[in-house]
Amino acid sequence: YDDRDGEIWYDGKFVPWREAKVHVLTHGLHYASCVFEGERAYGGKVFKSKEHSERLHKSAEILGFKIPYSPQQLVDAKAELIRRMGFTDCYVRPLAWRGSEMMGVAAQQNTIHCAIAMWQWPSYFSPELLEKGIRLKWARYQRPAPNTAPTASKAAGLYMICTISKHEAEAEGYQDAMMLDYRGQLAEATGANVFLVQNGEVHTPTPDCFLNGITRQTVMDLARRRQLKLVERAIMPDELAKTDEVFLVGTAAEVTPVGQVGDYMFKVGPVTRQLREDYLKEVRAHQNSAAA
Ligand code: PMP
Repeated sequence: YDDRDGEIWYDGKFVPWREAKVHVLTHGLHYASCVFEGERAYGGKVFKSKEHSERLHKSAEILGFKIPYSPQQLVDAKAELIRRMGFTDCYVRPLAWRGSEMMGVAAQQNTIHCAIAMWQWPSYFSPELLEKGIRLKWARYQRPAPNTAPTASKAAGLYMICTISKHEAEAEGYQDAMMLDYRGQLAEATGANVFLVQNGEVHTPTPDCFLNGITRQTVMDLARRRQLKLVERAIMPDELAKTDEVFLVGTAAEVTPVGQVGDYMFKVGPVTRQLREDYLKEVRAHQNSAAA
């Protein structure tokens, strides 16, 4: 990804893509003092841009640092970068990290850097796969407890177990991994939240040790608008035996039907199809009403 044309917003300036570099003694690289966002723009406008920028700030605060650009400055930077890149639909990746002045676990004095990159990233999966639903392997790792890691932060360090789990899943021909939490409850996939459909009701795990995703909150609103019964609760994995439909939601994944989790098989059903359609409409409707 580093050898491309275009620009990256880096510490308040637009710099050529290939020149957006960090030093090898960057604290964020050694000690994972880094937080990031994943956003999508539709029709030239970032969906829920303000919410994502506020979450980036909150993620940083949880790790004990403050981003030197306000959420509004980040919203404006994203809008300007989309114009400069000439994109309509794209993925947006803001990140913030501790720099390289001090080396060691403590790094209170280090400069906080911030960058935003964007690129075209259509659907994760092929239309054929979305028709059948993706296949998930059970992950080797569990989501840590909130007193074991800063689980409410979208912190780079929390993705170590996601990358390992996703690599293991892909090596065996699956598309992703399903993670349990520290109690053995159903948690989420490696980069998306999960929903189940049981007897026409929509159930989703309570987000007490993983991200309460912005897409998750949008899809919950859409389910309510469809007058579907919505239940947030602890869900044990053996409940998949009495589950009719499973789908993942996330900025990149949007609404992705799941056809298999471990040995449990699912059909892509009407509730998943409806909410997927509603979501894809919502992100486009938003572009017409909201400011960038
Ligand atoms: N969980 C994880 C681990 C993620 O990486 C993401 C993607 N940011 C989500 C959930 C979904 O969050 P959102 O809907 O805000 O993209």
